[in-house]
Amino acid sequence: APENTSDTDTEVRLRSALDQVPAYVPGKPAAAPEGVTAYKVSSNENPYPPLPSVLEVVRDAAASINRYPDMAVTELTQALSDSLGVPAEHVATGTGSVGVLGQVIAATCDPGDEVVYAWRSFEAYPIVTALAGAQSVQVGLDDHARHRLDAMRAAISDRTKVVIVCTPNNPTGPMVRHDELERFLDDVPGRVLVVIDEAYLEFVDDPEAPRSLELYRDRPNVMVLRTFSKAYGLAGLRIGYAVAHPPVASALRKTATPFGVNSIAQAAAVASLKAFDELKERVDALVAERTRVVAALRGQGWFIPDTQANFVWFGLGERSGDFAAAAQQAGLTLRQYGTDGVRATIGETEANDVLIEVAGAWLTEHP
Ligand code: PMP
Repeated sequence: APENTSDTDTEVRLRSALDQVPAYVPGKPAAAPEGVTAYKVSSNENPYPPLPSVLEVVRDAAASINRYPDMAVTELTQALSDSLGVPAEHVATGTGSVGVLGQVIAATCDPGDEVVYAWRSFEAYPIVTALAGAQSVQVGLDDHARHRLDAMRAAISDRTKVVIVCTPNNPTGPMVRHDELERFLDDVPGRVLVVIDEAYLEFVDDPEAPRSLELYRDRPNVMVLRTFSKAYGLAGLRIGYAVAHPPVASALRKTATPFGVNSIAQAAAVASLKAFDELKERVDALVAERTRVVAALRGQGWFIPDTQANFVWFGLGERSGDFAAAAQQAGLTLRQYGTDGVRATIGETEANDVLIEVAGAWLTEHP
């Protein structure tokens, strides 16, 4: 090597901000001991297979995958605009709502800026924040695993660019109420973008739930984030969207990966909106299962936080790993969050039965 070449000249220079980026730990694939049925209830997926009408559209769209998708996502944007009753300019799509979140941070945060959110919450928040070189300001949940909106308001500084409110909160389950969210939004400075992450919206049946589209309508700094991954059952196609006022929505279009929402995803999402009545029956069945599971677990003596999503939270602390391992022995792949707790997705009835059984046995053995 030439004399003036040092080691540091031969190593690719990566951004030091990457050292602060935590790894996304996805839900593990299903696994079970021999002879035991395996259920993957680790990623809040919809246990139902795609609707035949959606599969048909997917097959048709597959015939044109030699072409780029419609970069403007025209048909889906219009369909969302019609079904939500918002102008099409207010809709911005992305590669899953996690992709849209990345677009949000890229559009708002310079290195050193702050993003405020509750913790524990969705694990992509610290990742997208750190990727921008921005700082996470995490505000602990209360004893019932709820957002502490007063503490989140108090955590806003001059450097705060974004506040994320996850309702219902992943991985713990509770929602924020409309009235408390409205008061919070009235109190947040208009320079701060508030993201209402409603990935699990369709599973909410509490009448006090936020009417987020009402809250966003008169507040240019409020946006709603939604996904086709959960209730719509399209997790594998990666499609989510924001509803935001034009300055924010057009910034999200600028920071999107070009052609990031592929043609099959666009077609499937349009077909799924059309089939919503059919999908809603499945959502209702999952909500009924959630009610059954929560009642059974509480009947066994568990403290289960209120959940408005398609999952339940076991705040097991140090015993989280043992519980996840016991469930795995019974065929259930749960999602463990270090020594905070374990999350179980409401899945097919049989999976939910196994969960109730495992949880009951656990309490007997670990009183
Ligand atoms: N927000 C929350 C709260 C989530 O739990 C998830 C999925 N785990 C997402 C957003 C992202 O989902 P997707 O990228 O599939 O739309």
